[in-house]
Amino acid sequence: MEKIAQNKNNELQSKRFSRRVEDFVCEVCGTHVSGNGYTDHCPNCLCSKHVDINPGDRKAECGGIMIPTRTEYAKHEFIIYYKCTKCSREKRVKAAEDDNKELLMELLPR
Ligand SMILES: [Zn+2]
Ligand SMILES: [Zn+2]
Repeated sequence: MEKIAQNKNNELQSKRFSRRVEDFVCEVCGTHVSGNGYTDHCPNCLCSKHVDINPGDRKAECGGIMIPTRTEYAKHEFIIYYKCTKCSREKRVKAAEDDNKELLMELLPR
């Protein structure tokens, strides 16, 4: 018989975006980031942390640093593609207003 891990917290996963206001210090470049509730990455170096399964839920246990691998510019906004340095999981998010534009441009495919 195969043993199946029973997870008592196996509740229906809420797809709701949990809005949280939190300040944090970027672990990569040391920038102090004041969160506005949607901030999930550093506006200076664009690095993020692997903490969410669904955006804002903080349920991922990885905690690895997610680095921007490339960006895309579409419909007047940047999309940032990330890869986790620990578990290699990938995600993409919209860039924020105050993100480092120079870096966003640098990461565009040429
Ligand atoms: Zn940073
Ligand atoms: Zn990860």
